[in-house]
Amino acid sequence: MYSVDLHTHSHFSDGTLSPHALVQAALGAGVQQLALTDHDCIDGWAEAEQAAQGTPLRLIRGVELSAQWIKPRGSKPSSVHIVGLHIGDPAPLIYALIEQQQIRAQRAQQICQKLAAHLKCPDPWPEVLALADGRPEGVTRAHIATWLVQQGRVQRHQQAFDRWLSEGKPAYVGLAWMSMQQAIEVIVASGGISVLAHPTRYGLSATHTRQLISTFAQCGGQAVELPASNEPPATRQMIDRMIAEHDLMVSIASDFHGAHMPWIKLGRVPRPREEQRGVWQCWA
Ligand code: AMP
Ligand code: MN
Ligand code: MN
Ligand code: MN
Repeated sequence: MYSVDLHTHSHFSDGTLSPHALVQAALGAGVQQLALTDHDCIDGWAEAEQAAQGTPLRLIRGVELSAQWIKPRGSKPSSVHIVGLHIGDPAPLIYALIEQQQIRAQRAQQICQKLAAHLKCPDPWPEVLALADGRPEGVTRAHIATWLVQQGRVQRHQQAFDRWLSEGKPAYVGLAWMSMQQAIEVIVASGGISVLAHPTRYGLSATHTRQLISTFAQCGGQAVELPASNEPPATRQMIDRMIAEHDLMVSIASDFHGAHMPWIKLGRVPRPREEQRGVWQCWA
């Protein structure tokens, strides 16, 4: 069993647990190496590191950067997530995060305005902001989905995305995240390893997914997350082939968020193939 989980969220982004509680839960689940990878935020590291001290758990400093990828024959950009792992000197990253967090805060307010107009209700921003502990830079669409559920506008999180928040839906706001190339560069400049997160969860066709992985590799990207074990075997095979073709490393992770995504279990990660090189070997 691989006791590494290299992509998880705390309440510093859209996770429900504090970094301390996340580390406790990981210890309970037998995880030996845990990466905290909040969306465009590293503020949870200190608390997580403190909680891990003196325990068998090794805390890996991570981040999940929102980025955009422009498909070949250039239609509009797709939003993709690049995880940075085992960050050494976070200075270049911190600088880049200032802009990302401004984009995030602005975008969240624009989404709220669109919702207010469509739902003919007062601007939900103050309530959404409260759900993110008053940190505008920490607001994700998951917080806005929670608000929609609380208001009874939808029954479940997923419906909030399907009806309102996903690309092409009435409250979608596309904003200029850093490019995939920039995300990789800033992670490398910070001494980290760049990982393409959940490559099969961007709603892309198989052809586009392959193009995304090729471009990621050409931009200097180093590793790809393996699809979750409940995804179809054919999906896993396609990703395995791309990893081999581009000589990439693999990362294994749950993308744990806590209570609002109860089907994701901390430490439940896909198994790499014998010949695949795990990113964790870089810091072993
Ligand atoms: P953001 O970074 O603000 O765009 O928020 C993205 C977060 O919303 C993701 O990390 C997921 O936690 C959640 N999310 C995105 N798409 C969906 C979806 N279709 N269903 C449920 N949650 C989603
Ligand atoms: Mn999330
Ligand atoms: Mn993600
Ligand atoms: Mn994530």
